[in-house]
Amino acid sequence: MSAQDLPYIDSLRFAKDGEIRAGYYAIAALPRLAKMLSSVQGDLHYRLEGKTEFGRPQLCLTVQAVLSLDCQRCLHPLPQDVQLRSCVGVARNEAELARWDAVDLESGRDMVDAMVAEARMSVQDFVEDEVLLSLSVAPSHPEGKCPESLTGFGILETDSEAS
Ligand SMILES: [Zn+2]
Repeated sequence: MSAQDLPYIDSLRFAKDGEIRAGYYAIAALPRLAKMLSSVQGDLHYRLEGKTEFGRPQLCLTVQAVLSLDCQRCLHPLPQDVQLRSCVGVARNEAELARWDAVDLESGRDMVDAMVAEARMSVQDFVEDEVLLSLSVAPSHPEGKCPESLTGFGILETDSEAS
């Protein structure tokens, strides 16, 4: 197993050293995400990159995947092309995190969210967390675009017909 494959990283060191790791997970292997999907086929590709901005180490994550969510209107599959990019600051400890928050509040600067460093951070959990955060709470087909043949069940019609 090469360092690329290790499931854990030292998040602060990774960020400071500007390390880069790219890979993929089978969607079926991400249990919390898989639970929300109508199909767990396919892979989720990610790229994790360490960098430092304004003197703050960060982890920047890019994710690319097609996820099969359920439309909240018709409950039929709704494939979503997910292209995620987000950065998270890595503070040495709670005190530093609090200091960053205080500085940002004072300056009104819009800095990225931050977390406290972990010597053993699970890359998979981090990727999965970020994807879960990015998913829309109630995905649906565009108004009026739910597949026609599927409205015959009447279960979801109550909202529009009750008014
Ligand atoms: Zn729909």
